[in-house]
Parts: sequence; C-alpha cells; structure tokens
Amino acid sequence: MADDAKTKFLRAQLPAYLKKRGIDPDKWFSCLNPEHQDHHPSMHMDEGGLFARCFSKCGRNYSIFEMEAMRQGISILDFPAAKKAVEDYLYPSGVPGFEKSQDHRGKKTGEKHPKIQPKSIVYIRKYIDNRGQNRGGESASQTG
Ligand SMILES: [Zn+2]
Repeated sequence: MADDAKTKFLRAQLPAYLKKRGIDPDKWFSCLNPEHQDHHPSMHMDEGGLFARCFSKCGRNYSIFEMEAMRQGISILDFPAAKKAVEDYLYPSGVPGFEKSQDHRGKKTGEKHPKIQPKSIVYIRKYIDNRGQNRGGESASQTG
C-alpha cells in the first residue's frame, strides 16, 4: 500500500505522538493495545520510527494509525477514520502544509463552507438573474 504524502508525513510522527501520550519514545513502554493487559513494558519503537512493536502478547508492529484507532475504538480497517483521528489528535487545526481530510464519519458537520471562488459567484448571480427574469414571465420557450 503506497502512502500519499500526508499519510507518509503522519506515519512518521510516531515519536511525537508517543510523547503527546506521555510516553518516552526512546524507552520501553507498556503495550498500547487496550486488549493487552501489559503489566511491564513490552513495547518499543522500531528503529525507523514508523512502528512500535509489542514483543509480548501481540508480537507485532503497530503504526501510529493503529495506535490511535485502538485508543479511540475505531476499526483499523477503517483507515480513513484512523488517519483522521491521528490528524485531529496531533494537529487539531490541520496538518501544516496539507489540506484537512474530509471527515469520514461525518462527526463534525457544518463547520466549513466550501470556498466559493469569485468567478463562480458571478456565475451563480447570472444564473439567479436569469431565473428571475423567467419567473412569471413568458413561459413559452424562446426559439429563434
Ligand atoms: Zn501487546
């Protein structure tokens, strides 16, 4: 699976993400899978910094997206939702340099209106004017 630029960027924020959760990414920490009752630190960040591995019960790597999905009870199969959750957690006002993802789950509605370019406003005005002229006027279509 190839990451787009923003996914790639977010994936690399795992150390910052762990710090934000109060975890020292350079040390061993308890597994972040809520289904794994980890009583001593079994998890360590991968050297590449893109994954954390649970060396105990889970025996597998977790990406930042999986971490946040587990924390919020989102299915990791719903990747857009997991990605959005990471974005909202680390960058509530949007990822710097990237446009905000559409909210897959539609949690926040009506906070953003689509930007209308001046050109399209002119177009819409024309459309409304034309409608206005036709309203109550000649109902027959003008041919010729
Ligand atoms: Zn684990």
